[in-house]
Amino acid sequence: MNHFEFDQGELSCEGVRLSAIAEAVGTPVYVYSTATLERHFTVLRDALTAEGIVDPLIAYAVKANPNLAVIRTLARLGAGADTVSEGEVRRALAAGVPPERIVFSGVGKSADEIAFALKAGVLEMNLESEPELELTSRIAQSLGLRAQVAIRVNPDVEAGGHAKIATGKADNKFGVSFAEAQRLYARATNSPGLKPVGVACHIGSQITDLAPFEAAFGKMRQLVESLRAEGLGVERLDLGGGLGVPYFNQPTPPSPADYAAMVARATRGLDVSLAFEPGRVIAANAGVLVARVLHIHERPEGRKFAVLDAAMNDLIRPAMYDAYHDIRPVLPRDAVGVVYDVVGPICETGDTFTRDRTLPPLQSGDLVAFMSAGAYGASMSSEYNSRLLVPEVLVKDGAFAVVRPRPTYEDMLARETAPAWQEP
Ligand SMILES: *Cc1c(COP(=O)(O)O)cnc(C)c1O
Repeated sequence: MNHFEFDQGELSCEGVRLSAIAEAVGTPVYVYSTATLERHFTVLRDALTAEGIVDPLIAYAVKANPNLAVIRTLARLGAGADTVSEGEVRRALAAGVPPERIVFSGVGKSADEIAFALKAGVLEMNLESEPELELTSRIAQSLGLRAQVAIRVNPDVEAGGHAKIATGKADNKFGVSFAEAQRLYARATNSPGLKPVGVACHIGSQITDLAPFEAAFGKMRQLVESLRAEGLGVERLDLGGGLGVPYFNQPTPPSPADYAAMVARATRGLDVSLAFEPGRVIAANAGVLVARVLHIHERPEGRKFAVLDAAMNDLIRPAMYDAYHDIRPVLPRDAVGVVYDVVGPICETGDTFTRDRTLPPLQSGDLVAFMSAGAYGASMSSEYNSRLLVPEVLVKDGAFAVVRPRPTYEDMLARETAPAWQEP
């Protein structure tokens, strides 16, 4: 469910007309709904607690949508943060997430990033390899700390989604095998800079079926039991993120209630505190990308291109993952549909949002909204083709605020410096 609905004669968000935002801020622009972000977080939390899961740590995966105002919205409800870079740790802290709710994951953390996170006092470092374990131990020791760590395991399950976002097969770069996890866990126990507290997994993204989660979580349970059988203490089990969202043409993902019931089954009696790292399921349907039709270009043989002022640099998911986004005109049009290729202005064919999509008839100047664009939309945006970074707006209860302004061209050029030999 989300709070983008037809209201006051056009597509609106929490009582704010999208055309009013487009007028004020220009297009393209991302628009996020506070009520939807809050709802997705609380529905997941309530589903978990209704299953008897006590005090779950819901560490929002910052990379899905790292805008400070978005993180702050969730932090105020008690969300933690799952982070994968120093920049994300800094964002989580700046948005008010307490360090004791921040998890630092990622296959390639640099020494500086590890030191920063440890000094900040993050809850847990999720370690993905032996060299990383050694490096973390050395850095913690030099800081006079014992870092709480979890070993990230690769459960070797096939988990739907697109190949570029599947992370849980043995030949993906993430995590270590079960056998390796046992060895590393014992090793961490004997490392002066480390305190192993648990194990973690994250099997992929946009997963629309419970089976791979259930298979992975069953294996994680066995791992906890076998670590304990060796006398190693395990307090925490981090089950990652990955729950999919409906993008319209895809299988309906499991509901938070079904997911929570499965988690409860898989972990019953295990006596661990559970952590989750949801990103997409919280942010995707809480955001849209609003763009304007520049013109309709019709080929003599009949193919019609709707050329927008948004491009792959603003929303890369269709080009990168063949992702489907529902596209809705902001003003309703009840007329017979027309088949369009919807494209951006960038100089490559990959800058195509969709081909052969039947939409209401569009004309130059019309506003359209890409639905379900709140996750991995703005966070993956760039200035490719020297297009200005897309702005972001947060709506709440009939009001809106620009939470990342569109830079000016002067801002863009001023970031770069000339080498001395080019000075006049
Ligand atoms: C990307 C990522 C997530 C979030 O995945 P979603 O599919 O957005 O829920 C969680 N944990 C880790 C380690 C990740 O890399």
